[in-house]
Amino acid sequence: MLKIGITGGIGSGKTTVCRVFETLGIPVFYADVVAKDIMVSDPLLIAGVKQAFGEASYLEHQVLNKAHIAQIVFNNETELAKLNALVHPAVFRAFDQWVEQVPANSPYILKEAALLFESDSYKMCDKTIVVVAPFSLKKSRVMLRDQVTEAQVQARMDKQFSDEHKIKMADFLIHNEESASIILQVLALHEQFIK
Ligand code: ATP
Repeated sequence: MLKIGITGGIGSGKTTVCRVFETLGIPVFYADVVAKDIMVSDPLLIAGVKQAFGEASYLEHQVLNKAHIAQIVFNNETELAKLNALVHPAVFRAFDQWVEQVPANSPYILKEAALLFESDSYKMCDKTIVVVAPFSLKKSRVMLRDQVTEAQVQARMDKQFSDEHKIKMADFLIHNEESASIILQVLALHEQFIK
């Protein structure tokens, strides 16, 4: 089955674009949502996290101790890489399982991931889409959605590849700015993918 990876900077509108694909009946794997979920449900991952960051990584009843993990990986590239080396393969495993159960008549599937390129996850996809939007629009959308400051959005943006870098790696682009219709762009890509 054709696998399309979709990514874009924070606030570019990846999830919004994926919702449009879903209305066309296309199954979407939301890697970032799954990553959060498996942190508390994948026994192999939980064991790895406890081994790497201590038993204090989990509170009672398998509740993730986010403050503990954040304190370790915050501004520490080595520890963050250690966490990613545990989480990314677990997400890949979850993706493989998910692909097995999508309806067989689906013409293609989408994998949405903020770090599609950074995590090498794009290598498991046949094609990639990057959603792009102007810098100021992305910032204002996220500030409004998450009720955070400009500096907090900037800090998150700094952890991702630049748009220029992502655009170079992309097979297709979707422009999600005020004047562009994402519906028409999604329909055009959908037509290509089902051919
Ligand atoms: P993140 O990386 O933070 O998960 P994202 O790329 O998935 O972000 P979305 O959550 O889809 O981005 O969009 C960010 C915000 O901007 C949301 O509140 C969404 O409703 C809004 N938004 C996105 N695209 C549009 C649009 N074309 N018109 C109006 N609002 C939009």
